[in-house]
Formats: sequence, C-alpha cells, structure tokens
Amino acid sequence: RSIPELDAAITDCRACPRLVAWREKVAVEKRAAFRDQEYWGRPVPGFGPADAKLLIVGLAPAAHGANRTGRMFTGDRSGDVLFAALHAVGLANQPTAVHAHDGLALRDTRMSSPVRCAPPANKPTPTERDTCRRWLTAELALLTPTVRAVVVLGGFGWQALLPVLAESGWAVPRPLPRFGHGAHVELPPVAPGREPLHLFGSYHVSQQNTFTGRLTPAMLEDVLRAAADHAGI
Ligand code: SF4
Repeated sequence: RSIPELDAAITDCRACPRLVAWREKVAVEKRAAFRDQEYWGRPVPGFGPADAKLLIVGLAPAAHGANRTGRMFTGDRSGDVLFAALHAVGLANQPTAVHAHDGLALRDTRMSSPVRCAPPANKPTPTERDTCRRWLTAELALLTPTVRAVVVLGGFGWQALLPVLAESGWAVPRPLPRFGHGAHVELPPVAPGREPLHLFGSYHVSQQNTFTGRLTPAMLEDVLRAAADHAGI
C-alpha cells in the first residue's frame, strides 16, 4: 500500500462511533464564522511528502480547524503557530495555512496524529486512541525507509506514539522515556540494517500553551531545528 492509498483508506474510517457522530455534528452545525464553508467532517490523513525524513505528531484534529479544512493543523490557532515556526526553520514554503489548496508545501516533513477524528473537548478516550493506532503504525511503516526523526507535540501524542515505535522496529527503553519540552531520545533499531530514530518532545502548540507563554515560537523553533538536523534535512 502507498501513502496516497493509506490516506484514502483513513478518510473512510468509521471505527469510533462517538467520534464519527461528533465530527459530523460539528460539520453540520458549524461555527458562525465559517457557516458559508463546507466542512470536511471526516478523518484527517497525514500531510506532507511520502518520503519525509521528519515526522511531526500532534494529538487530533481540531473541530473547526482540520475537521473543517481536511488538512492537518490547517485553519486554527495551533496551526498558525506551528506553520510559522516550520517556515522560520525552512521546513515550510509559507508561514500560514488557511485551507487545503493554499499552496502550502512541507520540505522533507510530514504531519500526522495518533487520533484522526476531532474529539469532543480535544479529548479522545483511551479506547479511541488505541483503535486509531493502526493508522499511525501503517503510516510509519511506509515512512520507515526515510524517516529519521519525530517531533511529538504534547504528552498525549508521546504516550500514544511509544507503542507504535516499539511495534515498528525501534527499541524503546524501559522505563519508558518521559515526555518533556526538549526531550530527546535516540532509539536504536531492533532489526539490523535499519537506522536509529531520534524522538523529540515539544509542548503542544495549543492556545493554552502559546497564549500563556509556556511555549514560545523560539522554543518550538529550537526543537524543530534540532530534529531537522538529526533527520539530515
Ligand atoms: Fe477511525 Fe481513527 Fe477516526 Fe476512530 S479516530 S474513526 S479509528 S480514523
């Protein structure tokens, strides 16, 4: 299966009844500011080249962001911060992401998330997280020939990703590496001939973090720059 085939399969998924109902309800009711727009209202596939060296892992689509535009982190405040930082370090061709056909392209970088459907209050249940894991595992398997570093935005993504990495052929140490901003762990490959994977942590680009100054643009850019260096970008 190719990345485009995987992306197509993800957008048809209806495995989590609560999230299917929520994503579709939001898409019908809409936020007043977007009432003239057609919402995506489906699972959101990864965004970026199929031979990416760097993978960025978030949490889940925002109800009126990616659930509206159909593209990861596109159309909300979190994405505004993230794409500005990606542009500042040379990983995006423009600093803004408005809609799915705005010309944005990522350089050697792909974005994904452990949960693909917008959850109520941005909080997927553990069952929903575990149900959706197969998509991230499948995506990582397709990226394995090229991916050398992962930046995880927030503790939820970190916890969700570790089992995916363990079942994808990298040795995850015990006790499990702790999430923190600036955390960096090199995971050796289990299978011979594979490359190690550099795992980086960053506070999530949510407004709770960026409005309060817990995560500044400089802090985010530092993590992205370090990860890009280790990925060979
Ligand atoms: Fe499918 Fe994942 Fe959406 Fe659940 S969250 S319905 S597993 S795409």
